[in-house]
Amino acid sequence: MVSCLDRTIEHLRGTNTTVDSPFDFAFKGKPLETSSLETLTLASTWLDICIQSHHACGRQTPQPLPTRLIDVGSLESGKSPFLLQSTGGQLGNWFALSYCWGKALPFKTEIENLKQHMQEIPLDQLPAVFRDAVHITRRLECRYLWIDALCIIQDSPDDWKTEAAQMHSIYSNATLTIVAEAAIDPTYGIFASGDSRRHNFDRAVALSCITSDKGRSMKARPALPSSMGSKSPVSQRGWTLQEDLLSPRVLRFSAEQVFWACQKFRCCEAAPTTDDWEQDLYFRRFGTKNSFFDMNVGDTEEDIYFRFWNVVVVNSFTRRSLFKQTDTMFAVAGLAREIQRHTDSAYIAGLWSKNLPEGLLWQACRSGKRPSGKESYIAPSWSWASMTFNVPDGDSRPQTYQFLKHMEETAYDSEIIAVVIMPSVTEDLYGQIEFGFLVIAGNWRCVDDFKELPTPFYEDWNNTRSMWDKESKQSDLLLPKQIVCNLDEGTTCIIGDELNIFGQGNLYLQILPNVLGVIYALILAPAEPIEGNEVYRRIGIAQIPKDDGMADGWESAVFTIV
Ligand SMILES: [Zn+2]
Repeated sequence: MVSCLDRTIEHLRGTNTTVDSPFDFAFKGKPLETSSLETLTLASTWLDICIQSHHACGRQTPQPLPTRLIDVGSLESGKSPFLLQSTGGQLGNWFALSYCWGKALPFKTEIENLKQHMQEIPLDQLPAVFRDAVHITRRLECRYLWIDALCIIQDSPDDWKTEAAQMHSIYSNATLTIVAEAAIDPTYGIFASGDSRRHNFDRAVALSCITSDKGRSMKARPALPSSMGSKSPVSQRGWTLQEDLLSPRVLRFSAEQVFWACQKFRCCEAAPTTDDWEQDLYFRRFGTKNSFFDMNVGDTEEDIYFRFWNVVVVNSFTRRSLFKQTDTMFAVAGLAREIQRHTDSAYIAGLWSKNLPEGLLWQACRSGKRPSGKESYIAPSWSWASMTFNVPDGDSRPQTYQFLKHMEETAYDSEIIAVVIMPSVTEDLYGQIEFGFLVIAGNWRCVDDFKELPTPFYEDWNNTRSMWDKESKQSDLLLPKQIVCNLDEGTTCIIGDELNIFGQGNLYLQILPNVLGVIYALILAPAEPIEGNEVYRRIGIAQIPKDDGMADGWESAVFTIV
């Protein structure tokens, strides 16, 4: 059906349709560039409708300005943009830009050129993404634009830390976020150029036809190019996750067309109006933007927020790449503040006080590495944020577990006694971390204890080996009497006789004593003592079947984990 219509379009392209032809509307095609007046006027209409009539998206009330903004001036003035430094207390509206940094930033504000940028930012010197963003901002009649590379002094660590902590309000208070979805770095422009596919997704044409259902008219259209979505360069970048989720309105420039998303609706050039029949077809499965933050959940349902955090932040964020690996805490800080607002839970190095000890049971993936050395320290070992992951790592990604708390047998056996986080910048618990530790009481056993069990302990191993794909180590299947250990670094999983790789003094610390017959435990290794005190670090998690005496002989103690 679709391919037939595609052929019809190809045929009609070579035909002169008259002005009055009904095909004219359907097949005239889109303007070649997404930079066209028609496309940007459409975007402007979406913005107007949203501001005027979407209560859920928030009215465009002036907000306190960020420290610095690019004053783009008006389209007519022809003046160069310049950097406006707010003196505090000024109110206004701005757009923000979400884009890929690529390997190097071609143009940025530094201590040396700050004064110069406050006078003028010459348009012809800007990389294409920034220049296009200025053009869109002017065309949509907004005065200010926020771009991290220009509005944060890139060679000033102090400025960077202060401004990175403001990222949450910069994106959530921006009138609109422009997303350069297809550009792999700032030298690529935002706009899609003469891609012929832009001609192929015009609106549907009604075809009269007779069906068994009494001659109804049927609508048909060529296949719509979809957004690149999760495959686009911009979605691979760690920072853009919160930029997208926090922004009330997003205008995405993909390689094929322009998409709009706000709290109330999504549309695109192919399906430009809310009542368009395509709306339903096109976006039904996505829901509206940020529908998560819209939900009215009572305190008793705060776990939904933790689930969101685990699924969207831990699982999704860790698949993205960061220009600087140590930026992890900053890149999720905005989302963390939002979760905090909804849950009133203390934020502790990427985990939540009200979601402990469950939050400790995350599982790393194949490419997991925990950077060593003070310079590359990100977070304590019990936080997923302490890890870096090689991107892309196929389908392998860190996991979190959600346990059914109402099941009596899943009651926690461990007790968090204290959590201490020392931020690098005083009192910014969402920013960079200097050091942190956790004091926890729970039942433990030496890893070695299980190695010394008599042979019958392993007797089933030979019989069941075929059930376990030892090479790929893919199966989550827990075999009878076998401990499955997922190490944070290097190895996804070790089992049975491979437990010999553990060093001296390694131990299991029970977190959950019984989930459907399985003990969930952290694997701890002794770390460098601190002021003579014994401390441990997390090296993985283990699932231990509790039958056959495996749940016996555990002793209670208090551990400090760094
Ligand atoms: Zn809206």
